Amino acid sequence: MKTIKVSVVTPDGPVFESDVEMVSTKAQSGELGILPGHIPMVAPLQIGAVRLKNGGKTEYVAVSGGFIEVRGEQVSILAQSAEVSNSIDVDRALRAKERAEQRLREQKQENVDMKRAELALQRAINRISVAGNK
Ligand code: ATP
Repeated sequence: MKTIKVSVVTPDGPVFESDVEMVSTKAQSGELGILPGHIPMVAPLQIGAVRLKNGGKTEYVAVSGGFIEVRGEQVSILAQSAEVSNSIDVDRALRAKERAEQRLREQKQENVDMKRAELALQRAINRISVAGNK
């Protein structure tokens, strides 16, 4: 089976690096599947899961937006934050989800930053979901 190199990098350093048979994730324009031989491209990502398939196994990485670049046989994902499923602290994500929901509930009483709370909620939900795929 042919493979393609993939790296997931954040400002804190590399989070994942491997040769895989397929990378799939959600770009802002929709679901994206990348196999070896894919044409070069750059696309912005949604907050979501990156699925990395190799040898009958799938590894899941939670990414908080960023970009995916395909160049030659290399896929680079650059994200503000990214965690492989088994490094996710689920309790922390549950607390973040609770805080974000609380902020969204308070929207009428106070001048809270709605977009910020919505994004925090999406990150937390994504981490909880990806951690379920360890
Ligand atoms: P929190 O409010 O819990 O900090 P957040 O969504 O605001 O969550 P980010 O700003 O996206 O956090 O990330 C800050 C750093 O913490 C990043 O390095 C990210 O990988 C890490 N991180 C955030 N939440 C978790 C988690 N639940 N498990 C493991 N690492 C996490």
